[in-house]
Amino acid sequence: MISAVMPTYTRADVMFERGEGVFLFDAAGHRYLDFHGGVAVSSLGHAHPRLVKALTDQAGKVWHTSNLFRIAGQESLSARLIANSFADTAFFCNSGAEAWECGLKVIRKYFHESDQPERYRVITCAGGFHGRTMAAVSAAKQEKLVKGFGPLLDGFDQVSFGNLNEMRAAITAETAAICVEPVQGEGGIRTATADYLRGLRAMCDEFGLLLYFDEVQSGIGRTGKLFAYEWSGITPDVMCLAKGLGGGFPVGACLATEAAARGMGAGSHGSTFGGNPLAMAVANAVLEVVTEPGFLARVEATGELLGRELAALVQRHPAVFEEEARGIGLMRGVKCIPANTKVVDALRSQGLLAVVASDNVVRFLPPLIVGPAEVNEAIAILDRTAAALAQEEAAL
Ligand SMILES: *Cc1c(COP(=O)(O)O)cnc(C)c1O
Repeated sequence: MISAVMPTYTRADVMFERGEGVFLFDAAGHRYLDFHGGVAVSSLGHAHPRLVKALTDQAGKVWHTSNLFRIAGQESLSARLIANSFADTAFFCNSGAEAWECGLKVIRKYFHESDQPERYRVITCAGGFHGRTMAAVSAAKQEKLVKGFGPLLDGFDQVSFGNLNEMRAAITAETAAICVEPVQGEGGIRTATADYLRGLRAMCDEFGLLLYFDEVQSGIGRTGKLFAYEWSGITPDVMCLAKGLGGGFPVGACLATEAAARGMGAGSHGSTFGGNPLAMAVANAVLEVVTEPGFLARVEATGELLGRELAALVQRHPAVFEEEARGIGLMRGVKCIPANTKVVDALRSQGLLAVVASDNVVRFLPPLIVGPAEVNEAIAILDRTAAALAQEEAAL
């Protein structure tokens, strides 16, 4: 019999009752160190006092009006995002897939407005992930996302991630844009080099294409900069955000330059719930905290510590981990020799939550408020678990 909750996930048999900072607690009172971070969503950890206050204060005032009225929180959040990015304008929605799809519509509309409607195709990268809507899975083209859901939407071409020659060769008279994640998350924590991103920018300028960055996972301080593209010194024309933006409250955003958003006039796009007062209150509080002086410098320092410690860990356990530790800031990963699911299960039984990714990688996406003591605790658990797994592997 089908489960009452549609069985689209393989769920771990654990239920959390409450959270506090970087820790989660189950009903039996077991404590877990949360380096899963709700897949990069719990940017300020659990029950952050500033977020709890922002949400509860707003909850006592007004929850929902409609986008047919002005919404104060949208005006302040868009101003904050614009002041801290390349963008001139922002659209608010409820999830990463919706934010990504808004970006796609911005691109299509831009070329329509530019009298080049024949330019509608977007080049994406293998290993990319943009959400689960039909357009997003059609763009990512991964077998596990699209199998059984055809026919897919037309309009997407794909090349391998990190290869500028392949990208250039894929551009045709129908190409409108290039869409990449500066750091592929689901794809296995694969970090684009600054040279690659600069090369994409130059290519877009040369061919008159729009550059579209999906920062749903890498944005909002995750890499030690507010946006991962800042490491490259170039800027995109369009960018989507979600995950960390609401710190656990569902919210997404699509940011664009004035030029790129030229077609997005009244009636062109919409969302019933998008940017509602509750979501805006929380996202404004997240941005306020993350942009406070010193906050991102701390993320960068803690991220470097985590990176160094993971690099050393991989060296210490060659029977369990291969290649080098991957990632940047607090977006890190290690490639496993045993199944990554087995490693994640073993870590959880030792009180550390982590998340799998493609390429047999285990990802670490702790809240941005994590400190050196918790990094060291995580590494101690990883050491213990890897030693036990190595023994098991040897016994096989
Ligand atoms: C998670 C993710 C999405 C999709 O976000 P949802 O909120 O699940 O729709 C899109 N792009 C990237 C890079 C992501 O990591």
